[in-house]
Amino acid sequence: MATGNLFILAAPSGAGKSSLIKALLERNQDGSMQVSVSHTTRSPRPGEQQAVHYHFVDESAFKQMIADDAFFEWAEVFGKYYGTSKQAIADTLEQGKDVFLDIDWQGARQVKAQMPDTATIFIAPPSRDELLRRLKHRNTDSDEVISERMAKARDEISHYQEFDYVVVNDDFEQALKEIEAIVLCQRLAQTKQARRHQKLFAELLK
Ligand code: GDP
Ligand code: ADP
Ligand code: 5GP
Repeated sequence: MATGNLFILAAPSGAGKSSLIKALLERNQDGSMQVSVSHTTRSPRPGEQQAVHYHFVDESAFKQMIADDAFFEWAEVFGKYYGTSKQAIADTLEQGKDVFLDIDWQGARQVKAQMPDTATIFIAPPSRDELLRRLKHRNTDSDEVISERMAKARDEISHYQEFDYVVVNDDFEQALKEIEAIVLCQRLAQTKQARRHQKLFAELLK
C-alpha cells in the first residue's frame, strides 16, 4: 500500500498559502488530498470555524498536549502557539492520501528533520507592497496585527533557502499550477512508484 506524500507550504502571513491550499483541494476532489487542521491559541477570525480552520484551544490545553507528546511539531508564532497534532496527519498518510501543512518555517524544520522526504514549498509574495495590500484587503486583522505581521515577514522570508521549492504567488492561477506540478513530481518519485506498482515491476522483471 502506498503511503501519502507530505507537503508543507510556508510563507509570510498574507502571501496566500491558505487560499492556495483551499483552491488546490477544491480542484482535486478525488479524495487524494487533505489539509491538516492545526491547533492554535489565537482567537478565531470572523468566519473561521472550530475544527475546520483550526482547533482553537486555550493555552493550558495546548501545554497539556505538549506534555502528552501529542504534537508532531509546534511553534510560537506572533506570540501564540500553533501546532500540528500527530493525529492530524498519521491516519491520512496511512490511507495513501497526500497531506498539506500550512505552517511556519520553525515547524517546517521540525517536520523535515522527522520526515526528510516531505516536500517543502516556500510561497513568496511578488513584492512587499503587494503583501501589505493583501493583508489589508483580507480584512481580518487590526492595523496593529497587520503591522506586526509585516514586521515579521522579513523573518519568515529570510528562511526561504531552507525549502525544496519556491513559488511566487503573483498570478494566482499560475501559482496554483506550479503547486500542482510539484505534487505530481512527488507522486512520480521512484520510491513512491515502486511501492504503488510493486506487482507491475514483479511482472516486468520475471
Ligand atoms: P496566516 O499566516 O495569515 O495564514 O495566519 P495564521 O494565523 O493562520 O497562521 C500563523 C502562523 O502560524 C503561520 O506562519 C502559519 O504557517 C503558522 N502555522 C499554522 N499552523 C501551524 C502548525 O500547525 N504548525 C506550525 N509550526 N505553524 C503553523
Ligand atoms: P496566508 O494564508 O498566506 O496568510 P491568504 O490565503 O489569507 O494568505 O491570502 C491573503 C489575501 O490575499 C487574501 O485576501 C487572498 O484572497 C489574497 N490573495 C492570495 N493570493 C493572491 C493573488 N495571487 N493575487 C491577489 N490576491 C491574492
Ligand atoms: P494565522 O494566525 O494567520 O492563521 O497564522 C499565522 C502563521 O502561523 C502562519 O504563518 C501559519 O502558517 C502559521 N501556523 C499556523 N498553524 C501552524 C502550526 O500548526 N504550526 C506552525 N508551526 N505554524 C503554524
